[in-house]
Amino acid sequence: MALRNIRIEGDEILQKKAKPVKKITEKVKVLAEDMIQTMYEKEGVGLAAPQVGMLKRLFVIDVSETRDEPIVFINPVIEETYGEQIGAEGCLSVPGKQGRVARPQKVKVKALDLDGNEFELEAQDFFARAICHENDHLNGVLYTELTKEIIEV
Ligand SMILES: [Zn+2]
Repeated sequence: MALRNIRIEGDEILQKKAKPVKKITEKVKVLAEDMIQTMYEKEGVGLAAPQVGMLKRLFVIDVSETRDEPIVFINPVIEETYGEQIGAEGCLSVPGKQGRVARPQKVKVKALDLDGNEFELEAQDFFARAICHENDHLNGVLYTELTKEIIEV
């Protein structure tokens, strides 16, 4: 495993739409493992492949307190959203800043895991926020485009 460099706001790859993962090769598995390691190292709760320069529809999230429950989402689809929450959000690609962003309170998402098996889960509160944030990265969208309320932290 290796740490990957995180692309910072202004890097045009962060504005591009990522492509579906066609086959879960060894390379894709290594990418996911590296992303998990990088996310922990940088103390993030999520990381999307475009943030490490790979235009693939893949992100990793760990919202557990113990920081040992990473979930890999490959070719994710947000199937349903419910309600709304407004809260603080940060991004490893936008260091030193936070913004208040409106997100769904709850989402239903479908994706593939690293073995190529489809799974579906419902997430709410901060977990739902993280999924929406990471999924936006796959579409070239940063949270800074969704809010005018951004502060330095
Ligand atoms: Zn982000």
